[in-house]
Amino acid sequence: MSGGLDSQLAVRVLQRAGAHVEAVTFETPFFSADAGRKAAAALGVKLHVVDFTDDEISLIENPPHGFGGAMNPCIDCHALMIRRAGELMARLGFDFVATGEVQGQRPMSQNRQSLGIVEKVSGLKGRLVRPLSARLLEPTVPELEGRLDREQLLDLSGRGRERQIALAAEFGIVDYPSPAGGCKLTEEGFCRKLRDLMDHEGLGDRRLVHLLTVGRRFRLAGGTGVALGRDRIENQVLKELDRIKSEGSVILSPVNVPGPTAFIPSLKGEADFALATELVAAYSRYDRLEGEIVLSVRRAGAPDERVTMPRPYSREKFKACQIC
Ligand code: SF4
Repeated sequence: MSGGLDSQLAVRVLQRAGAHVEAVTFETPFFSADAGRKAAAALGVKLHVVDFTDDEISLIENPPHGFGGAMNPCIDCHALMIRRAGELMARLGFDFVATGEVQGQRPMSQNRQSLGIVEKVSGLKGRLVRPLSARLLEPTVPELEGRLDREQLLDLSGRGRERQIALAAEFGIVDYPSPAGGCKLTEEGFCRKLRDLMDHEGLGDRRLVHLLTVGRRFRLAGGTGVALGRDRIENQVLKELDRIKSEGSVILSPVNVPGPTAFIPSLKGEADFALATELVAAYSRYDRLEGEIVLSVRRAGAPDERVTMPRPYSREKFKACQIC
């Protein structure tokens, strides 16, 4: 249950065919389950939310069918979600898993071959139903067993949306997000940060993976990574990491001028420390300040301290080491 129109239609078509339907949606730092939650509530179906973070990270590290346009391992991601839904199906005593896929709707991920790969990789052979295109596909086990009336299922195909829109009106579905978007693994800027983290700290520390959505990212000359807040909310998030700081971590923030908080998960040498203080100063608004900029420095395992910084500083200096 992505929450998109097709997944909502799939629920209603199955219900019309007499099935009891429960929804499954997935959650990771790369995409949220909010749209699925909203849609399940609107449809009045029970929702199972599955934490998919470990699965998604293992696919990012090793995608058997490769990536889409960015770092989105769509074929494997989709198949593994279906596999997880299949495990839930077996555990809860359901007969089949259904998706809102429409044959030919997405040239890469929903052509007949991709639909076949997903079914094979998911291990659900014969028990994966696509109610919106079912009459164009081989009959599935529940259809052959007479548990699901094939005649009640649909024969949608291709990229046109007219029939879906008409069906939405028929079923009274009024609220649905646009079909594309929502997954950060398809966003080029986010993926630059993700690739940088993979190449340096790795993806083992889930806290750092979650942090990818927060702030600008820099990689300093000595290899230190810096997350730099872009607004008040992000600065607050980075400041609060103080409570869970780990060895080598440093938090910098300006004391006497407005400016960003910087979070350094693992400092690599004092030369990088000096660069990081310059970076915070360069992004601070000190134009009305007379005198030096003061930064607070909180290092894990050391008493808090303050450093004073002469001025001015230029953001230009950090252009080359900005990841995103
Ligand atoms: S867009 Fe993101 S969530 Fe969707 S299948 Fe691709 S990787 Fe998975």
